[in-house]
Amino acid sequence: MAKPAALEFPAEPFANFADSRQRAAFTGALGDVGRELGARYPLLIAGEEVRTQQWLASVNPAHPAQVVGHAAQAGGAEMERAVAAAEHAQPRWAATPVDERIASLRKAAGLLRERRWWFAALAVLEVGKPWREADADVVEAVEYLDYYAAAMEQVAAGKAVLQRPGEANQYRYVPRGVCAVIAPWNFPVAILTGMASAALVTGNVVILKPAEQSPVLAYHLTRLLHEAGIPADAVQYLPGLGEDIGAGLVRHPKVRLILFTGSKAVGLSILQAVGQPEPGQRFLKHAVVEMGGKNAVIVDEDADLDAAIKGALVSAFSYGGQKCSAASRLIIHEAVYDRLIPRLTKAVEGLRIGDPASPDCELGPLIDEEAVRRVTAAIAQGGRSATLLYQCPSGRLPQEGYFMGPALFADVDRASALAQQELFGPVLSLFRVRSFEEALELANDVDYGLTGGVYSRSPSHLQHAIEAFEVGNLYLNRPITGALVGRQPFGGYKLSGLGTKAGGPDYLLQLMIPKTICENTARHGMPLE
Ligand code: NAD
Repeated sequence: MAKPAALEFPAEPFANFADSRQRAAFTGALGDVGRELGARYPLLIAGEEVRTQQWLASVNPAHPAQVVGHAAQAGGAEMERAVAAAEHAQPRWAATPVDERIASLRKAAGLLRERRWWFAALAVLEVGKPWREADADVVEAVEYLDYYAAAMEQVAAGKAVLQRPGEANQYRYVPRGVCAVIAPWNFPVAILTGMASAALVTGNVVILKPAEQSPVLAYHLTRLLHEAGIPADAVQYLPGLGEDIGAGLVRHPKVRLILFTGSKAVGLSILQAVGQPEPGQRFLKHAVVEMGGKNAVIVDEDADLDAAIKGALVSAFSYGGQKCSAASRLIIHEAVYDRLIPRLTKAVEGLRIGDPASPDCELGPLIDEEAVRRVTAAIAQGGRSATLLYQCPSGRLPQEGYFMGPALFADVDRASALAQQELFGPVLSLFRVRSFEEALELANDVDYGLTGGVYSRSPSHLQHAIEAFEVGNLYLNRPITGALVGRQPFGGYKLSGLGTKAGGPDYLLQLMIPKTICENTARHGMPLE
């Protein structure tokens, strides 16, 4: 059977910082953003700027004394206002012709493309991303906007159902309603834009609850969506504390759809909460939760070690391991273990650690002090159930900022926290196995199932991995991070997520409700037209 054609949309190229003009543009953008540091950002409720008593300070993780911006912190009263405004806006936005909604996304993509350096520079300062990572975050956001615009064209064309004489059958999709978008800080541009744009193009109105660590980017993205033609009351900006405003939106009886990306603990609590209707709630809430990973890369006995080492390095340490897709386990066949370890250790030692505002930085800071505490504790505890093979000496780290050097563990106890729990930092655990089967078994022996990789030259082993590796995104002979919109739709299963795929052909459907209409066309007693 012929496969239908893949959805085409304009792909956005990554920056090429070897080009001096692009480097100069980026340096200029860092300067521009630098001049706006410390500004105050109000809530945006139905287009109105709302200031509150409390403010969230968003700081530069490389220079915590530098406040990137202060975001108004929403409380219960502001949440009620935002939900009421969203509920009011819902019917009008849902009735807006789908072509207009699609056009707004395309306009937003254009605006973001024009301002890509500025947004990426802000990501460098607000969440400590090195240049290339920051650029990729913005590029992914542009692609989500264009991709979901194209995907909505397909959805709007509708689906055929059987017709029989005497009846006219229709199958159409309607929006769910008020949607809370609860976003993480680690892809503050891409993930927030992706979730919001998908909800909006399908006719839902959105309340944006950004992560506490990245509210400034979220403010500017909200403004950009307004500028692109999305009404101010159809997308509202509501920063606040997760356990307060996030949890409040999840439980709110008027919020029908929750799009969440973040940790397993919070995702599971959301799934639990949506199963309990609140008084006054007359529908079942729908939650899409995308959670963490404990991702493994397998290096087989015949693997190309040059490629495997490079791939492991990128997968484990880019953005300091603070990607849900990051590798935290390297499972190595005993035939190559002893050759691989010294080379990998040398490569890790060579990573350039520093301020991500500098173009040569390979490893920037962790997001905040809490992350440094968590990873430090995990390394100390890991030392009791494994051998610490390498840890970056603290003298090599910048004096200021939330820096944490990379660490490698060997002889890791397979049941230990190091082997089982998501760490979200630059720590890689190494495992020695006797066969490819053992490698796969070990790779699958975790709660998570997000990404995974295999370096092997054996077609039968690669095929075996395709069939048995329990991950949502499997990568063969390449790094396991960097999924591209429309090309590698992204998302996990097991305890990593519900199996939905951001940037994939099915994503939009779950944000709507299919409605069936059947009309009796025999029309007894009705005048014929
Ligand atoms: P987090 O779960 O701490 O926070 C995510 C969001 O949830 C934030 O906006 C936060 O304020 C909010 N929140 C916190 N408590 C809440 C509650 N009780 N109810 C409702 N909302 C609440 O996660 P994080 O630290 O921002 O992000 C890192 C995590 O995200 C990692 O586990 C990572 O693997 C995961 N992640 C997953 C994907 C994916 O696509 N699967 C992508 C990126 C990040």
